[in-house]
Amino acid sequence: VKSIGVLTSGGDAPGMNAAVRAVARTCLNKGIDVYGVMLGFKGLHEGQFYKFNRHSTRNIINVGGTMLKSARFPEFADPKIREEAIEQMKKIGLEALVVIGGDGSYHGALELTKMGVNCIGIPGTIDNDIPDTDYTIGFDTALNTIVDALDKLRDTSGSHQRCTILEVMGRTCGDLAVNAGLAAGAEIIVTNHTGFDEQKIIEQLRLSKASDKKHAIVVITEHITDVHELAKHVEEATGFETRANVLGHMQRGGRPSARDRVLASRMGIKAVELLEEGKGGLCVVQHGEEIESEPILTLFEHKRQVPQGMYDDVLKLR
Ligand code: ATP
Repeated sequence: VKSIGVLTSGGDAPGMNAAVRAVARTCLNKGIDVYGVMLGFKGLHEGQFYKFNRHSTRNIINVGGTMLKSARFPEFADPKIREEAIEQMKKIGLEALVVIGGDGSYHGALELTKMGVNCIGIPGTIDNDIPDTDYTIGFDTALNTIVDALDKLRDTSGSHQRCTILEVMGRTCGDLAVNAGLAAGAEIIVTNHTGFDEQKIIEQLRLSKASDKKHAIVVITEHITDVHELAKHVEEATGFETRANVLGHMQRGGRPSARDRVLASRMGIKAVELLEEGKGGLCVVQHGEEIESEPILTLFEHKRQVPQGMYDDVLKLR
């Protein structure tokens, strides 16, 4: 392969820049031309390419967000639009792509591969919702942001003897909630895995209050319920003064943690090596300390499951 492009797509995640840098450097060290594609698949379709040199990725390893910007571009599901994007690539001799993003982006990568453009996916999302990889890029940074927020909420929750409910991201995946809950000493974790039973939550908090607990923390994954309503119901039923907080996009920003930078750097190298071997339709995954690859199709066949043992451990420390 003589020329590789790299793009970031879907929601941004801290560490994406470190992955872009690793792709660029690995290519340049191998004598492969490398292009940054702005704005994900939208920029690919518009031909927004930008040739990298040794200085292009200077000073980005420690910066959150993505220097290549990201965009949602549902039009890319249309084969005609993808044909047009391939035409744009041909104009500059771009042969293959590294796609950094979540599972939606992987669909785009797979479709392009089927049309003759080898693509390799790198899991860039804070949600950790991609199966078959231990971690996705951005998860560790987001987790630390949430724990930091919970520590602060604990201070004020303790001072005022309140119950605090914190809604965190994760889409349908409970990884952020359960890991943050364990790390910050939450009483109750609610995810799609645990299910949502308002009466059970109220009962547990009533018990906590009765056992002379002065404050409590509940961590809940987004899209499960209206946390402000939940707070009202808890307060009415238990007498525990309760406040709800939605952490929101703060979780997506910030300096990437060391772990995310290491993961992103190693995955970026691997993606280029796979393209060099003439492979496509694969995504890079982490298994233990190893960086490996799997067919994107295999990932679509199952969902990530947080181990039950994590949830059991939360209960053991209650
Ligand atoms: P995150 O999990 O952070 O939201 P994501 O990659 O899942 O990231 P999506 O918005 O689902 O985010 O997908 C990103 C982009 O991938 C879409 O805007 C679109 O351009 C492309 N894409 C998604 N699904 C398809 C598909 N079926 N075929 C082709 N391209 C697709």
